[in-house]
Amino acid sequence: MGNSDRQSRSLRDKGEVIVVGGSAAGLFTAASVARGGRRVRVLESKPELEPAPRTLIVTDHFRSQLGASGASSIRNEIRRFELFTDGRSAQVALSRPDLIIERSRLIPALAREAQEAGATFSYDTRFLGIGPNARGLRIETESGGSREALHADELVGADGAASRVARLSGWPPVETVPLMQAIVRLPQDCPPDTTRVWFVPDDTPYFYWLVPESPERGALGIIGEDGRDTKRCIERFLEKKKMEPLEWQGARIPVYKRWVPVQRRIGNGDVYLVGDAAAQVKVSTVGGIVTGFRGALGVAQAILQGGRSNGNNGSNELTALRRELGTHWLIRRALHHFQQKDYSQLVDLLDASTRQSLGEINRDESTRLLWNVVRRQPRLVLLGLRGLLMGKKI
Ligand SMILES: Cc1cc2nc3c(=O)[nH]c(=O)nc-3n(C[C@H](O)[C@H](O)[C@H](O)COP(=O)(O)OP(=O)(O)OC[C@H]3O[C@@H](n4cnc5c(N)ncnc54)[C@H](O)[C@@H]3O)c2cc1C
Repeated sequence: MGNSDRQSRSLRDKGEVIVVGGSAAGLFTAASVARGGRRVRVLESKPELEPAPRTLIVTDHFRSQLGASGASSIRNEIRRFELFTDGRSAQVALSRPDLIIERSRLIPALAREAQEAGATFSYDTRFLGIGPNARGLRIETESGGSREALHADELVGADGAASRVARLSGWPPVETVPLMQAIVRLPQDCPPDTTRVWFVPDDTPYFYWLVPESPERGALGIIGEDGRDTKRCIERFLEKKKMEPLEWQGARIPVYKRWVPVQRRIGNGDVYLVGDAAAQVKVSTVGGIVTGFRGALGVAQAILQGGRSNGNNGSNELTALRRELGTHWLIRRALHHFQQKDYSQLVDLLDASTRQSLGEINRDESTRLLWNVVRRQPRLVLLGLRGLLMGKKI
């Protein structure tokens, strides 16, 4: 028997890795860990693989993360951003287009990849509890009214913002904010390759967006702070823009404020968190797909290396992700205290050179982006610092 055969047999002889949550981050983890030779089982509380439709915008980093399975979910490409505030506007051209993806296509494609890599799936199966046993972890589940205890060497919590895995394993809860979006007919004056963003600080410290998913339809959304106010604001905004909601999508999404260590030890077993469960969401744009995949890859590497990562910075992927999320948090902290006059100044300041810098760089590489903006447009940074120094905690 060759060295690699022996190695893959010894990996398979190890106990199972259980992933709780069969959505974006969980399926990506499952595929990566199974491809590395470990036995993987995904537990998903939904009865079957039928994800609700959701229009998502991601940077083109997505293509290199997913390859063929990602390509089948791409519906449109965005080449330009238009920013609006108080009667002003500015345009930002993207040199590498953002992608519009459809979640109800992405999730089945990811599930197929995980299955082909050897992962098994238990739908209609809810994770209930966790505790140590002699060899690793005892996982309690419920399926169709009956309870079962499973054994795992490692457990991955990919069960979203309200993660039960995180809570029962001793992680503090992550903060969440409401996100709502309405599918609308795309207004005739909105090109299908252009995303519009409106800063309306009286309504929200975040922003409204209109993301075209095709030449005919788009998703108009808002992130707010309070669920009821957010609904009222988006309804008023739609009315003002004379747009009819054709359908609604929404949920609470995590706000990243500090790095959530992704690994904890319970008895002789390891518990990891990925995706929304670990608040791996870019808080300046509230995107969680690409960053969730990065977190998933980092955790998969840690598991395949036998947990040698300390869960915080043992993997390059996790180190890069932490830096990325931290930069987005700084940007958000600055913007969070912006008043109307600050946004007006910001949009005015987006002159040709800054626009070029924003467009040239993939927005996932936010550190580089920040340095480019600092270099080319120091006044913009001063404006940001004012926001940072306002003192008020968010
Ligand atoms: C309306 C909307 C628009 C968005 N737009 C964008 C966007 O444009 N770009 C972007 O990048 N991101 C966007 N996001 C955020 C993005 O969708 C999330 O960051 C991403 O889906 C998180 O994936 P996840 O796998 O970590 O968690 P989730 O997708 O929340 O999946 C968690 C899974 O765990 C399962 N589960 C939960 N509890 C249990 C349990 N006890 N037992 C078993 N299974 C369980 C759930 O059924 C679910 O399938 C948007 C979010 C919303 C709500």
